[in-house]
Amino acid sequence: MTSPTPLSGPTPLSGPGPRLQPLTLDLDGRTALVTGAASGIGRACALRLAAAGAEVRAVDRDAAGLAELAQQAERAGDLAGTVVPRVVDLTDLDAAERAAEGTDVLVNNAGLQLVRPIEEFPPDVFHTVLTVMLEAPFRLIRGALPHMYAQGWGRIVNVSSVHGLRASAFKSAYVAAKHGLEGLSKTAALEGAAHGVTSNCVNPAYVRTPLVEKQIADQAQAHGIAEERVVSEILLKDSALRRLIEPEEVAEAVAYLCSPQASFVTGTSLVLDGGWTAH
Ligand code: NAD
Repeated sequence: MTSPTPLSGPTPLSGPGPRLQPLTLDLDGRTALVTGAASGIGRACALRLAAAGAEVRAVDRDAAGLAELAQQAERAGDLAGTVVPRVVDLTDLDAAERAAEGTDVLVNNAGLQLVRPIEEFPPDVFHTVLTVMLEAPFRLIRGALPHMYAQGWGRIVNVSSVHGLRASAFKSAYVAAKHGLEGLSKTAALEGAAHGVTSNCVNPAYVRTPLVEKQIADQAQAHGIAEERVVSEILLKDSALRRLIEPEEVAEAVAYLCSPQASFVTGTSLVLDGGWTAH
């Protein structure tokens, strides 16, 4: 009896993720808008969609980070599409809605985090988190839909989190915003279905981004333990696969949701959590 040929070698339980072969995706002639594109997951999504041929509007409030992204796109050299930086602070909701006009693909990704018990959580930060991570996505979807509906095609991908499905103590604003984003995404899926527009969430656990790397260093200092122990004993406590996800793996899930293979996938949440929510 012959055993099946493995598609790739086993993935180690810790350390970096596997080297990815990107799935075939053709977004030639399409426009995509990615928020929070200056860093982490958003940057990986912008580069991935540009590699697929899209003209990517890279939206962020961080002008320097966007300039780095543009340089990275130029260095890559072989992108079929383009990355066009656009500085927008998403707390300006009218500007957010305007920025989304005419886009074919919308990736709602920008986010921020504050870890604090509810009784100490500053109300103005709660308001900002909800504005950037829930109300801005609503306004961006609102801005994008008329064009998507007119052409009978559109893809909305909302970067949620395991925290869109589960709560953690001390993350009230983040968990509330992500749970709200799940509801917004499902509603957009129901309304968009008749117009060829799908809307989905992707839900990663901890991703190796500047945001998390800083958290690792901070937690190591706060707990007086080595950074590797923060990863294994705190961040990966509930992960069966026990490694961080790479931003490129999240971007690949976003690419899948934009592909023809995913045309029947809508109103759902694609969970990339290494088994966290299987508990
Ligand atoms: P990041 O901090 O690396 O990037 C977030 C980006 O959002 C930054 O470039 C920042 O400038 C931008 N941003 C924040 N507020 C903004 C505003 N008012 N206007 C415009 N841009 C703004 O974070 P990341 O880890 O790449 O996270 C991206 C998304 O993924 C977030 O929604 C986050 O909740 C989600 N997520 C992250 C992880 C993780 O472990 N890193 C896990 C699950 C979900």
